[in-house]
Amino acid sequence: MAKAGGLGDVVGALPKALKKMQVDVRIFLPFYGSIDKRSYRCVKVIDVLEVPVDSRWEKISVWQTKLPRSDVCVYLIKHKFFDAKNIYTGRRYKVGNNYTRTKIDVERFSFFTQSALAACQALNFQPAVVHAQDWHTALAADMIKTRNLADNFFINTKVLYTIHNLANQGITSPEIIRYAKVDPNFPIIKADAKNGDINFMVQGILGSDLINTVSRRYAVEILYHYQGAGLDNILRQRKKDLTGILNGIDTQAFDPATDKFIKYNYSAKDLFKKQNNKIFLQKRLGLPQDKSKCLVGFISRLVWQKGIELITDTLVKNADCQFVFLGSGQKEYEDYLARLAKKYPNKFNVNIKFDVVLAQQIYAASDMLLVPSRFEPCGLTQMIAMRYGSVPVARRTGGLADTINNYNYSLKRANGFLFTEFSAGALAKILNKAVNLYYSNPDKWLKLQKNCLRQDFSWERSARQYLAVYKKLLSLDCQGNLEMS
Ligand code: ADP
Repeated sequence: MAKAGGLGDVVGALPKALKKMQVDVRIFLPFYGSIDKRSYRCVKVIDVLEVPVDSRWEKISVWQTKLPRSDVCVYLIKHKFFDAKNIYTGRRYKVGNNYTRTKIDVERFSFFTQSALAACQALNFQPAVVHAQDWHTALAADMIKTRNLADNFFINTKVLYTIHNLANQGITSPEIIRYAKVDPNFPIIKADAKNGDINFMVQGILGSDLINTVSRRYAVEILYHYQGAGLDNILRQRKKDLTGILNGIDTQAFDPATDKFIKYNYSAKDLFKKQNNKIFLQKRLGLPQDKSKCLVGFISRLVWQKGIELITDTLVKNADCQFVFLGSGQKEYEDYLARLAKKYPNKFNVNIKFDVVLAQQIYAASDMLLVPSRFEPCGLTQMIAMRYGSVPVARRTGGLADTINNYNYSLKRANGFLFTEFSAGALAKILNKAVNLYYSNPDKWLKLQKNCLRQDFSWERSARQYLAVYKKLLSLDCQGNLEMS
């Protein structure tokens, strides 16, 4: 419906799995200009609703639809702020070592959160749990408290806050307190007023009843300075309320046996057909067509986190394989990859765009997927790759470490290759090892692929863990953990 990265996958899939477990789950989403009213059969359920913002009221309407291929209710908040086709209207920029969005985007998502709560009231829908995602909706707990000062509508509502990526924090000037209509007297706001700015991520961490992040390993890594993105001390205050739940993937959408975006469908039984997708992709992208050539894919946002600088000229020159890269993001990385493609046209192919169809064709065609991330809260691409029998070659961090069992000559549980040191040399070494195995021992390679295909990354497993957290939230007393000093 609307996706810029992994968060889109999560919101599209977790609710479906929860619904199957009889949870009454409803999604609130901005009605982005990219969402087609007719094809999603959107129905207006609230004609006009006034939402407080700054010192004025803005009018929204609320529409309803269903998540594709499911019975999950989606409420769409319609307002001119969200009419643009893109999720973000402004830039992403650096604050210290982290990122935020331009003021307008921070305001848009604060307005969205306020609107979603107002819509709950107008629909007389009193959620037991509000599950807020990332910095965008991190003010939910503060807004709920502010609203409760007026009428206690949300008095029994608890807030779970999920951190998808600490690198994006939503930082803006304190005017946001007035704009977002959050009561400035909450101690939580004061705790954050170090340099005068308001940090949405901090608000979510300190204000919500429980917090989780998207892998166990990342939940531990972020308590330390090297991965805490400046918030490790804040997170340590909530250590006992912080858990890690690995994301799943939408196994229905990502299924090589039925995927409509790929040319040749296949499954574990007829894995040899995967090679036809390789030829198809090589042809489509203008690479030499050779089904025996090892094909290494890379699908990612092109940002600092993703370790793109480890793909050096030397690595490309020496590797006995073809590379297909798909991504968009920071210009310096886009230009860097484009230069490599120009220099090595027969082995290095780059596609600078966001293209879901091509992404699936790469998963289907590739023998391996590179994920050399500096840090990776969960990572979906390695899981999707495994589902398509493409073996991940990745850095041992966050969710990559939690999902990939390194091949170390034993094939029992191995489903990929891991390197630890963040260096071009370490990546080159592991890639070399993987490529050598690919050419020298097809039987072992097939076994690795089959191990990949056997993994259960379905949302059912994660949903069960989320359900346990929701139940824990319901057992908290009314004040829960909200009182912070
Ligand atoms: P992140 O959330 O940091 O972007 P993840 O690995 O968790 O990384 O999720 C990325 C998701 O976005 C995957 O579904 C991946 O296939 C998709 N994706 C990333 N870049 C592109 C692109 N350029 N075109 C199509 N899909 C992409």
